[in-house]
Amino acid sequence: KAYSPVDLNEVIREMYSMIEDHRMFREINVVFNLSNELPHFMGDKGQIEQIVLNLLINAAEAIEGPGTILVSTEYKEGPFSLGDRRSFIRFTVEDTGHGIPEDLKNKIFEPFFTTKQRGKGTGLGLSITRGIVQRHGGKISCESQEGRGTKFTIEIPVNLSKT
Ligand code: ADP
Ligand code: MG
Repeated sequence: KAYSPVDLNEVIREMYSMIEDHRMFREINVVFNLSNELPHFMGDKGQIEQIVLNLLINAAEAIEGPGTILVSTEYKEGPFSLGDRRSFIRFTVEDTGHGIPEDLKNKIFEPFFTTKQRGKGTGLGLSITRGIVQRHGGKISCESQEGRGTKFTIEIPVNLSKT
């Protein structure tokens, strides 16, 4: 694995500038709340780009008509988990889209699960995203309220000594 220091804020800006002119973002207000104290973390930049694209496009596709996507990054100094004292980065993508029905919440990370029309979605985005997050030692979670919106949260531990 060829991991090198990744600047998540930079990846977010690069990926958004690549897709922002697409018509799917025309009525969407994308708001960035990016920490200026975000440490770099050891990762595969190409895979992190995939994660950012997947979450931004899913959020945009969940919004019909006008809406908002809030993208934020934060540095958390507290321990990542029980038994892992490293600090971590939190990355969230929150949308005002149609949300996810309760009975589908445990299916969205399964490969090939999609609610999109034939030819519109492969249902692979979130399963690939989860795989990438896990290979970076991190975790992904989803909170959603049907009819109100959805928030995906990714947390990735940071090994400050290596970056
Ligand atoms: P695809 O986008 O190809 O359908 P994904 O794996 O990216 O596949 O997502 C799987 C399913 O999870 C989507 O079809 C959709 O039902 C649901 N989903 C993902 N992101 C969102 C979101 N931001 N808002 C509402 N539903 C979502
Ligand atoms: Mg998708």
